[in-house]
Amino acid sequence: MRYQGREVDIEGRVRLVMESALTARDRVGVQDFVLLENYNSEAAFIENLRRRFRENLIYTYIGSVLVSVNPYKELEIYSKQQMERYRGVSFYEISPHIYALSDNTYRAMRTERKDQCILISGESGAGKTEASKKILLYYAVTCPTNDHMAILGDRLLQSNPVLEVFSIWLFKLNSECPQYVFSLDCVILLLHCFFQFCFLPLIFWLFSPAKAFGNAKTLRNDNSSRFGKYMDVQFDFRGTPVGGHILNYLLEKSRVVHQNHGERNFHIFYQLLDGGDDDLLITLDLERNPQNYRYLVKGNCPRVSSISDKNNWKVVMKALPVIGFTEEEVQKLLNIIASVLHLGNTQFGEGEEGDTYITTETQTSNLAKLLGVDGSALREALTHKKLTAKGEEVIVCLSLLHFQFFHMCCVDFHSCHACVCVLQMISPLNYEQAVSARDALAKAVYGRTFTWLVEKINQSLALKEEIYHSSKDSSVIGLLDIYGFEVLQQNSFEQFCINYCNEKLQQLFIELTLRSEQEEYETEGIAWETVQYFDNKIICDLIEEKHKGIISILDEECLRPGETCDVSFLEKLEDTVGSHPHFITHKLANGKTRRVVSREEFRLLHYAGEVNYNVNGFLDKNNDLLNRNLKEVMCQSDNQILSHCFRREEVIDQKRPEMAATQFKNSLMKLMEILMSKEPSYVRCIKPNDAKQPGRFDEVLVRHQVKYLGLMENLRVRRAGFAYRRRFEAFLQRYKPLCPETWPNWHGRLVDGVSTLVNHLGYKAEEYKLGRSKIFIRFPKTLFTTEDALEA
Ligand code: ATP
Ligand code: MG
Repeated sequence: MRYQGREVDIEGRVRLVMESALTARDRVGVQDFVLLENYNSEAAFIENLRRRFRENLIYTYIGSVLVSVNPYKELEIYSKQQMERYRGVSFYEISPHIYALSDNTYRAMRTERKDQCILISGESGAGKTEASKKILLYYAVTCPTNDHMAILGDRLLQSNPVLEVFSIWLFKLNSECPQYVFSLDCVILLLHCFFQFCFLPLIFWLFSPAKAFGNAKTLRNDNSSRFGKYMDVQFDFRGTPVGGHILNYLLEKSRVVHQNHGERNFHIFYQLLDGGDDDLLITLDLERNPQNYRYLVKGNCPRVSSISDKNNWKVVMKALPVIGFTEEEVQKLLNIIASVLHLGNTQFGEGEEGDTYITTETQTSNLAKLLGVDGSALREALTHKKLTAKGEEVIVCLSLLHFQFFHMCCVDFHSCHACVCVLQMISPLNYEQAVSARDALAKAVYGRTFTWLVEKINQSLALKEEIYHSSKDSSVIGLLDIYGFEVLQQNSFEQFCINYCNEKLQQLFIELTLRSEQEEYETEGIAWETVQYFDNKIICDLIEEKHKGIISILDEECLRPGETCDVSFLEKLEDTVGSHPHFITHKLANGKTRRVVSREEFRLLHYAGEVNYNVNGFLDKNNDLLNRNLKEVMCQSDNQILSHCFRREEVIDQKRPEMAATQFKNSLMKLMEILMSKEPSYVRCIKPNDAKQPGRFDEVLVRHQVKYLGLMENLRVRRAGFAYRRRFEAFLQRYKPLCPETWPNWHGRLVDGVSTLVNHLGYKAEEYKLGRSKIFIRFPKTLFTTEDALEA
């Protein structure tokens, strides 16, 4: 690492350049919030952000956390020259930047040989995905390339059209699709990387189909990622990026069948209709106008001015073969996309007995063809429920109790203890049930295909052991681009999961940062006033604890035979966790009613603030059930993607699959394990206004995010501790020229050498502490002055 031409070690966070002249500071604020005089004041915090934003300084630190405000315009700060400025330079030596964080992380991985992760959070539209793109771009340009990559490069070069399309894509994206904006500099850089056969630009490209399937236009973001993703980038022993892996979380499947006004379904549908050629649409029995498809009209927003569906379609179509799709697979994938649209147009009529029949017969035959399933089986599965059970006792159920009970019980029959002998029955669905079975099938088909697609991308990004035989020495930088805290007008199951995820990430932050910070002071024997921080474990437990937590109660309620509904779930919650200090319903202890929470809601007091959740739909969404006979039909599909997604074992296996919230909980546990094993860095993204306009800073909106991102807490902890620490030997080595007694060499105990040095430099007692092996300096300014003395 270089410090103005000299070498310093990785811990050499030596100089806090703070655009430090006071006059400049008045104008542009401080570049690290720890330098705010009134660091406890939220108003001062926001004012500092505003000043910097006004000057196009979108990045600010809180210690090692990077706060980023979305500029909603292209800034000239991402060029190759800028990358060079940040390369090898210590974090604090230079103005804050996503490149500084990327570089620091990369060097920490290389020098400390420890896997790293960068956690990017923020609300929708705050710039998380842009930040992760910038990090990847930085690595793509600055990391060394590898001979082995040339093998892959050769292969790619042989397919000329691929290269051609890649360049066209980048330029087209640049001119026509601002949602993928790269500055011209970046385009040239990416092309440069591609020609050098670097691995990372491929990630951008290969990921485009996943984006088409996983992104959508929402009110808050024209290109909103509707799933969380964690991406590992693998580096070989030389620091060359050579492989990658993506984990996806909680795709917003409900968007397939419903969109709010002003929003769209996932991009891929519009891309196909706009970009697919006439022959293709005829084969798929599709019309070009999205307004003809019920699943696409709900938001009344078929076009988005900032998006070119046609061009994006070309990109996706060219990327698929590179990912490894055969022509046949591409065709099967297209069939699936089309079949979801046809499913949406499948309509039902009601018979006299309350039964249901399909009114769009011809379309259903085409639908069956596209899905690769038998038409009559599909028709029956969409209008009937097959009840397969085991047991005399079922018959007892039937005869003793009313049909409804049998019906409820048998939906998940394998989980009903009463059922022990085999019985099969067909029961007709009523209109609402048929509609919801159809929608459930559309969501399942789409959701599972998305997961399959990500798996496929992973196969193409995978580190090829036989090629990269040195991979044993490889290290990893993980990037987490995941939804931040969500507080909407109406919060439902999705927000519950998202906010639970944020609670877990806060736990990780506490675990890895605050606790380790305190532990270090303890190990070093430093008397340090303990920072009072709120440990949100109590909320995580409230949500996830076995048997007693909200998720367990929800699961139980989904499985309980008999009449269960969202309201009975709420009642159960009241009975079980009603007295928990972080849980509130409308009921007050004195029997009166609380106004702030309606009768259909419960409120959680999250670490970042309160959120009311409306229980409507919780059970259905958690159940996420597909009728058994629909599953049976699907697993017989001759479309190999679908038969991969719908496994026969699922139908045979009597064990009920995990419910949605539990699945999410388990995947979060795994994610936490992955992140725990790495050294974390944080990027906190802020959206300055809802209008997606440059230059507008909406203070109310920003204050809300500062609160829900927990930034004041971050700052408090950072300021309560010591801004800088360094091992005695490193400190002495660097600053010994400043003191005649330590120069040229100190022969006594290291601690005495450091003590002599700082006494000579005139450090005041409150400015520093000496631990067992390290010196801790409380204020960056102290260090800054010492560095200046070294310069002089
Ligand atoms: P979501 O959670 O909805 O996926 P997000 O946090 O990932 O949202 P992005 O898609 O990264 O948000 O950003 C939204 C838009 O804001 C981008 O399409 C881009 O126009 C703009 N934007 C974000 N960051 C930057 C930046 N650093 N420079 C220029 N524009 C940006
Ligand atoms: Mg995003």
